[in-house]
Amino acid sequence: MPHNKTPQQIWDSLLEGNQRFVGHAVERPHSTPERLIELQGGQDPVAAVLSCSDSRAPVELIFDTGFGDLFVVRTAGESLAPAVFGSIEYAVKNLNIGLIVVLGHQNCGAVGAAIDALDNAQIPTDGQRILIEKIIPSVIVSRNKGGTTAEEVEAEHAAITADQLIKRTPVIAEKLFDGKLGVVAAHYGLENGMVKAVKKYGVE
Ligand SMILES: [Zn+2]
Repeated sequence: MPHNKTPQQIWDSLLEGNQRFVGHAVERPHSTPERLIELQGGQDPVAAVLSCSDSRAPVELIFDTGFGDLFVVRTAGESLAPAVFGSIEYAVKNLNIGLIVVLGHQNCGAVGAAIDALDNAQIPTDGQRILIEKIIPSVIVSRNKGGTTAEEVEAEHAAITADQLIKRTPVIAEKLFDGKLGVVAAHYGLENGMVKAVKKYGVE
């Protein structure tokens, strides 16, 4: 069954779930064995979420959602890569999701490493370099706008990543234009569990 929800309804429901999480009033919807059986034949998630792999930011728990609700892609520093573009595009084209959320978070180690690399002019040569290459432009943009804190870079990085998803994936731009899709860049606070929008397209 297609979900038939508007981007705004989906964003509102995710914010409500986050408010339940913050207020210690979680309902843990869609988490029963019956729900698993119901989903055996296929999935109909309402949103795709690209977030950091950080163990302190478990997406389904943060939004108080359950099985089959969210199509989640996680990489350190919510970094973009070909497989990330492919995964999100699949969710938009084939799963009919109505919202994409790019979720950065407080005290992100990947963002911190990029800031350190830039400040110390020392770029790692191991696998971390791939992540840092993706995040350094966000550090530069944030500083050009007067940003001085890691949190400002984290928010800017989520916003730039959302922009890149829109600009480089024609089907996302088309569905956004048609009002069938919303895109939100957001920041998750480790100190209070709260998700705050940084930049929104197609939703209020
Ligand atoms: Zn992180």
